[in-house]
Amino acid sequence: MNITAIIPAAGSGERFGGKKQLKALDRRPLIFHTIQPFINSDLINEVIIVVPQNDVKQVNRDFKSAISSKKIKVVAGGDTRQQSVNNGLKIADKKSKLICVHDGVRPFVTVALIEKVIEASRGHDGAILAQPSSDTIKKVMGDQILETLPRETIWRAQTPQVFSRSALEEAIEIAINDKLEGTDESSILEKIGYQIGFIEGSSLNIKITTKEDWIFAKAIYQELND
Ligand code: C5P
Repeated sequence: MNITAIIPAAGSGERFGGKKQLKALDRRPLIFHTIQPFINSDLINEVIIVVPQNDVKQVNRDFKSAISSKKIKVVAGGDTRQQSVNNGLKIADKKSKLICVHDGVRPFVTVALIEKVIEASRGHDGAILAQPSSDTIKKVMGDQILETLPRETIWRAQTPQVFSRSALEEAIEIAINDKLEGTDESSILEKIGYQIGFIEGSSLNIKITTKEDWIFAKAIYQELND
């Protein structure tokens, strides 16, 4: 079955203070590291990178010359994450019946994790990677704790997230029309009643959001490449 990977990397990096997806980690832009395992996985047929409008030309030039082994498309993103994913979906190969969405700012995903979540999606409408919470999680309002949630039921969502193409297309259309903002795609599919499975990811598969995360990213990169 053909599978397209969509890598949303069109955020403005407000919490980071700049576009971290293009910041160099060991001399290469962060998204270069992120897409490498998708290039290396035999299960992925094409990779679509979604970047800010102003960066489309440059990213196209850099990636087409650096990686030639697999079909790579570069497209401009939108104002919201779902609009960015939608722009990727619109140019996905018509033969792809599964779509694998992965944050551009999670550079430590591996071929094994990608293939594990693809496998987990069989028998569901989709599947995601997640990590059990090692912290105790509090529900709060204002400066007050409302309750402590049962930790064994709390898992932290990661990407890749793999969905049947038709389910994802329906969910994204609803999200955009009804202005339902989701911090991931799974949350929207869950809301409209699709059955989404999950399987344990990796604590190294971090999302780089803040400047502090960049410190962790450099340490992880160094440890993995020593
Ligand atoms: O904001 P957050 O950290 O959840 O973003 C996750 C991913 O979604 C990032 O790779 C970011 O670049 C991407 N994104 C996007 N288009 C937007 C907003 C976020 O592609 N409008």
